[in-house]
Amino acid sequence: MQRGIVISKNHKDILVKHAKRNIPNESCAILFGKMENDNFTVKDVFLTKNIEESSVNFTISNDELIKGYAEAEKRKLDVVGIFHSHPNSGAHPSMTDKKFMEINPVPWIIFSNENEEMKAYLYESKIIEINLAII
Ligand SMILES: [Zn+2]
Repeated sequence: MQRGIVISKNHKDILVKHAKRNIPNESCAILFGKMENDNFTVKDVFLTKNIEESSVNFTISNDELIKGYAEAEKRKLDVVGIFHSHPNSGAHPSMTDKKFMEINPVPWIIFSNENEEMKAYLYESKIIEINLAII
């Protein structure tokens, strides 16, 4: 079976709104959910601040990362993904993204404000695009 990540239309809309609100900068979020049989399901989104305030990079503060992981644990969910947006380019990982994807091998969802595409990627010895299902 092809690997993939499932997200509800509602959670997708929250992420897209977050991306639009943060223009001209990249936006970011932590995705909570469950992993079953190599498939990921997003159950909630934890919106975070891009402390770099950059249009080409993002960084989530250590404080928010700690808060996010604690919140996931409290809700008995796992961190199943990282979301960020690209205000001025397509929904594919940048060189910097690729570097961080290797360090953080959970699904990465990227939204492009440029063409409104949303795609998911995962690092598994190399970076692959995985199926993104919106239900
Ligand atoms: Zn990026």
